[in-house]
Amino acid sequence: MSRRLLTLIASLIAFASSPAQPRQTRVSVRLFSRQRVANCRVGSLHSSCEFRAGGKLVARSGQSELREVSRSGTGLTIRSAGKEYHCSSPLYICPSHGEPVAVGARPIPPRVYLGRLRISVRGGELLVVNELEFGQYLRCVVPAEVPRSFHPAALQAQAIVARTWTYRNRSRHRTEGYDFCDLTHCQAYKGTTATTPETDQAVVRTQGLVITWHSKAISPLYHSTCGGHTADNNQVWGGSPLPYLRGVLDSVRACAYCAASPHARWQLHLTKPELAAVSHLRVPLSFIVTERDPSGRASRVRIAARDGQVTMTGYQFYLAAGHALGWNRVKSAWFRIEASGDGFDLNGKGLGHGVGLCQWGANGMAVAGVSCREILQHYYQGVEIGSPQ
Ligand SMILES: [Zn+2]
Ligand SMILES: [Zn+2]
Repeated sequence: MSRRLLTLIASLIAFASSPAQPRQTRVSVRLFSRQRVANCRVGSLHSSCEFRAGGKLVARSGQSELREVSRSGTGLTIRSAGKEYHCSSPLYICPSHGEPVAVGARPIPPRVYLGRLRISVRGGELLVVNELEFGQYLRCVVPAEVPRSFHPAALQAQAIVARTWTYRNRSRHRTEGYDFCDLTHCQAYKGTTATTPETDQAVVRTQGLVITWHSKAISPLYHSTCGGHTADNNQVWGGSPLPYLRGVLDSVRACAYCAASPHARWQLHLTKPELAAVSHLRVPLSFIVTERDPSGRASRVRIAARDGQVTMTGYQFYLAAGHALGWNRVKSAWFRIEASGDGFDLNGKGLGHGVGLCQWGANGMAVAGVSCREILQHYYQGVEIGSPQ
């Protein structure tokens, strides 16, 4: 075989085994999604910034100089040191030398973002959007979703989960003019606030990798702590069972991988007035689990009182308790109930819905020497880790 042919075969093998990039390379994220923004302060903390609109340079800011941007009619006004510049919408703010850009809108103080900003007038207020590379966005969302002290393989698993979610949901807000909001509706996003060298490295090391089922990106559900066994998606929410979201045993030699989680086991005393607030009954007299799913979670509970009774799924009870009493007092639907004094004692396991990847379990597996790929294939049975079609 000629040397040229061998070189060609070698390069084809290298190409086939290198992780492919998701097709979309840039994402846009709406900032201040929860509030109405009348004006904002924008600039760069470490370099100058160019303010561009309609293809022209409108203004420039110096180092550490934040300029105020507000609406004037259908256009925008930029103010700084007594000067005013008017321009059309949208306005692009690009820091020089690839430095981050800072933006704040009362009451939120300036935060630092990678990429550039797009500010436009929408319905009488400002729409502030951060446009940045796909990988830069992942660098910012991974540390918001997982303790930064986790083992590198667990951080890598979370990076692949975040990339898969981002890839699968990239059209979520497209009709509104951006890809994602900055709330937990999409993924909590506060710019570079929480990034660390370890979380950055997890994103870089897993570049291009997503979790696929029959070559399509999966719905990568995850939760904090399963308590020893994850749950079937249909047991929690009803609907069709997804083959890669089956409950799995999450322990080795009778010790849960997530045993180190502060939420592995929990106790709670619920008073009768608290249970009344959850169930909307006047004076609850009994509270029992009537059915359990194969993992052991309560799949149906019944609360009875003189004025009637209610039954609901365990997950509905977990949500109702969160709304009525504050989130994470009842941490999951996996609990035993005992009548006690003026109410009921709950002895429970885990935190969250229990479906998909258990974050603390992933860390326990990583500490035990399991690879990132094996961790993902444990929680999402039958999947591949690669590039989507
Ligand atoms: Zn959203
Ligand atoms: Zn677990």
